[in-house]
Amino acid sequence: MTAPASPSVETVRIGNADFPRRRLISGTPPLERLANLSGRDGRAPILVKRDDLTGLGLGGNKVRKLEFYTGQALAQGCDTLIITGAVQSNYVRVTAAAACAAGLDCHIQLEDRVAGMDAGYRTGGNVLLDRMFGATLHHLPAEASEADADAGLDAIADALRAKGRNPYVIHLGAAFEPRGALGYILAAREILDQIAQAGVTVTQVVIASGSGQTHSGLLTGLRLAGSSLPVTGVCVRRDAVQQQARITQICGNLGRLIGRPDLVGPDDIVVTDRFLGPGYGKNSPETWGAFLAAARQEGLLLDPVYTSKSFAGALAMADDRDAMAGGAVLYLHTGGLPALFAYEAAIDEALAAAGPGPQPGQ
Ligand SMILES: *Cc1c(COP(=O)(O)O)cnc(C)c1O
Repeated sequence: MTAPASPSVETVRIGNADFPRRRLISGTPPLERLANLSGRDGRAPILVKRDDLTGLGLGGNKVRKLEFYTGQALAQGCDTLIITGAVQSNYVRVTAAAACAAGLDCHIQLEDRVAGMDAGYRTGGNVLLDRMFGATLHHLPAEASEADADAGLDAIADALRAKGRNPYVIHLGAAFEPRGALGYILAAREILDQIAQAGVTVTQVVIASGSGQTHSGLLTGLRLAGSSLPVTGVCVRRDAVQQQARITQICGNLGRLIGRPDLVGPDDIVVTDRFLGPGYGKNSPETWGAFLAAARQEGLLLDPVYTSKSFAGALAMADDRDAMAGGAVLYLHTGGLPALFAYEAAIDEALAAAGPGPQPGQ
């Protein structure tokens, strides 16, 4: 093993392998019980792991991933992070922040994935933050596939290398090494400790399943820690068949990465596309309902792309008495809140449709 190139990089053992990590989270995001949405009409308690509060650059689940990508970039002596995402990507925004924290440059490629959005979507929210963090922005047209997006990253990297730079590419495709998922292997241990401390019985975990690293990491981390807790991934971009295959592939790659390919079996991988609605970045009346219920009954902000859907899934799970077996739902709040300020028009429409005050039946 090579010695870390930067004093800010530590080595963490996960499974049977060692990984460089650049710490970006200072505290432990809390685990909170929802006071008003829990227990209502026989609904199970809902505990929220507040990974929207991971801190760096307005936080979210991507901070945990970036600890491992930034760690490896520093350990390899790289000088620039390169990443791709939707225009309002939280991943891209947190990467730009991590680059600032670690003293690296950042190039980001924004994909026009969501049709029919306004100027606020293109310049506000996460895009404003990307520019504040000083990242260099590139753009990819609407019809680009995931493979096109990754090829775009490689082209940016080649251009930088030609100028004598040493870039580190964070690819998106499921076939690439899922290094970011290591952050959620560590998070699983943290969550199990918090559950034990709270003295509650959790019987279901519900999370958003997008690129799939968070889902794969948390699931692998629970099994590595000896927990058989079921994890349901709520699809936010693809249908259940595609997402199931994607999580299977990533869990396989992750198991090999940590030298423990035996941890996750086919039955462990559970996804639902019941809350996908019209697709990525778009909501159904039900997912807008969950989004507004969290705000109006708990003062809890969700985002319009990921957690509106995953929280609708958590509410439905908490209402399913057979699945809950008397225990609580653990809901992972993955953040994404800066996008609220880029979806104003869509949220306005949801507000107009909902009318004032708490939504009955949510
Ligand atoms: C990226 C993101 C997710 C999905 O995480 P993956 O690891 O890509 O599956 C969920 N919620 C928010 C807010 C995100 O930004």
